[in-house]
Amino acid sequence: MGQNGPVSTAKGTALPASITVLLPDAREQRPIDATTTGADLFGDDRSVVAVRVNGELRDLSHELADGDEVAAVGIAEPDGLAILRHSCAHVAAQAVQRLRPDAKLGIGPPITDGFYYDFRTEPLTPDDLVVLEKDMARIVKERQRFVRRVVTDEGASAELASEPYKLELIRLKGHNADAEGASVEVGAGELTVYDNVRRDGAVAWKDLCRGPHVPHTGYLGNGWALTRTSAAYWRGDQRNDQLQRLYGTAWASKDDLAAHKRRLEEAAKRDHRRLGAELDLFSFHDLVGSGLPLFHPKGGVIKRAMEDYVRARHVEEGFDYVGTPHIAKEDLFYTSGHLPYYADGMFPPLLEDAVRDEHGVVVSGGQAYRLKAMNCPMHNLIYASRGRSYRDLPLRFFEFGTVYRDEKSGVVQGLTRVRSITQDDSHSYCTKEQAPDEIRHLLRFVLSLLRDFGLDDVALELSTRDADGKKKDKFIGSEEQWAEATEILSQIAGESGLPVVDDPGGAAYYGPKISIQARDAIGRTWQMSTIQYDFNQPERFRLEYTASDGTHRQPVMIHSAKFGSIERFMGVLIEHYAGAFPAWLSPVQVIAIPVAPAFDDYLADVAARLRAHGVRVEVDAGDDRFGKKIRNAATQKVPFVLIAGGEDVEAGAVSFRFRDGSQRNAVPIDQAVADVVAWVAGRRNDSPTAEARA
Ligand SMILES: [Zn+2]
Ligand SMILES: [Zn+2]
Repeated sequence: MGQNGPVSTAKGTALPASITVLLPDAREQRPIDATTTGADLFGDDRSVVAVRVNGELRDLSHELADGDEVAAVGIAEPDGLAILRHSCAHVAAQAVQRLRPDAKLGIGPPITDGFYYDFRTEPLTPDDLVVLEKDMARIVKERQRFVRRVVTDEGASAELASEPYKLELIRLKGHNADAEGASVEVGAGELTVYDNVRRDGAVAWKDLCRGPHVPHTGYLGNGWALTRTSAAYWRGDQRNDQLQRLYGTAWASKDDLAAHKRRLEEAAKRDHRRLGAELDLFSFHDLVGSGLPLFHPKGGVIKRAMEDYVRARHVEEGFDYVGTPHIAKEDLFYTSGHLPYYADGMFPPLLEDAVRDEHGVVVSGGQAYRLKAMNCPMHNLIYASRGRSYRDLPLRFFEFGTVYRDEKSGVVQGLTRVRSITQDDSHSYCTKEQAPDEIRHLLRFVLSLLRDFGLDDVALELSTRDADGKKKDKFIGSEEQWAEATEILSQIAGESGLPVVDDPGGAAYYGPKISIQARDAIGRTWQMSTIQYDFNQPERFRLEYTASDGTHRQPVMIHSAKFGSIERFMGVLIEHYAGAFPAWLSPVQVIAIPVAPAFDDYLADVAARLRAHGVRVEVDAGDDRFGKKIRNAATQKVPFVLIAGGEDVEAGAVSFRFRDGSQRNAVPIDQAVADVVAWVAGRRNDSPTAEARA
């Protein structure tokens, strides 16, 4: 600990200086002297990597001042992990420049689960990564201190004369600090260099950086690893130099690193892109394009089960089923405001009757059409197609609308991020007074739907506009309209009793939204359904209804997608169930496997009886041996495997084999059929076993 006590002034009079230490559940007043640092307060605790002083993250070596509010930043909390990960990026960069002295430094920010650092150098090979990790381990062992040093622009430019990208960042300082990741190295304030100092005082390496960092490299322990490399462009712009991006992961401990690796393995096993091919559910083809899925018959079964379910539920919940085209004149989207507010998400215009020159450039004519990115504008036109009375409200339109969004090929991913998106999209038109109840109704509907598909661990996210941030121009409508809509959604989210996370700036341009985040079987969260309050489109489309007093009023419109998108929801279901779907969703519910070909016909009869009850059943009468057929059924994750051999035939029975390997033998056929039919009808989301019966 530092010398506690009054601070002596030049004149020798004593002024009491003190700080407030913020503890997890208390505030503590403590005297300090002129040199007290975060390390004096928390340095003995190796789980503390930095301090938060008056809300700002600082190095532990930061000197505290009278009146400061100081809190410890733990290694395992998000800010602590980011500091640890970024410090690990320094260690990786030091190792790279020892291996490749002419490698030029880009930037090295922390990212989810780890960090990267960019270099201009020849591509790094897997063998290079092994060498680099060894050298990083040495640097960690040396416990090199991270020492902060304030420098002038000129001083920094001279010191870093051989680092062209750092020089560029110095020039950018204060102008364009949000260049991809650049805010890690230079903020708007003073420039700082961090020296990595060995115990003998020698500077091992240095980097232009804002910090903070862990006190010394020993804090990294053995909870880190290099993971991969990729190509990247300087400042994310493909007109700039191509760099090599080195990725790593870093955690508070070796155990946390091991747990992270296990999560990755578990996620890889569940990867819906891999399972989609193995289970023959869907594919993508170059001739169609990225992000545009083709559903195969087995994927089609799941898709249809989802569609049948959600269509029936919408009808039960009072929605009218409508249909609209995939393209419309561009003017429609100007009316709705999607142009220009959502222009980035839309495909470029298609031109009808355009006259083009030999280069394909339009020289005259041409009515511009757009692939729709939203269904709402067309639903608005259905609303406006005739007069509406207050007695008609709420009026609810629903359809499976396939919309098209121009996602960049880099972000398209399997079914979870596609460019053709089939939304189970609805729009409720109601009076302002009816809006809260309609939103409650939609939230109940959505939560029951997620539960029916086995996603019952959910939280809500409340997305509002960015009132003063840099995106504030992306939202339309008045202050009061936003405040009122946000208040209603916030109140209803609160009433639900579910956890609510705020998402400022995440709203659609036309109004705030509640989105429902579901946690899957391995703890990952996915954004699924949305409920959005819209006061803008009714105004833009001049929608109205006749009130009970005969006046014309404007309805409120509530957008809602329950699955969100059929594609994404299916992708999430595949990963949640790791391909072992609930029986009611399984493409093949029963596979019948004869012990020998002599029993093919016997099982074909049993299958016909199941099929008569609507069960999806196959008989494997192929040439494979019995054992191979059983293994195939397991790979296909079929919930019910029916087996018949000589004894079964004599007894008029079959045997069940389940996903968990358990068996029920000699079940009379009537009983077996009844059990399967009851299980499927029960829409249970667990897997049948010898014990678990309908
Ligand atoms: Zn740094
Ligand atoms: Zn909509």
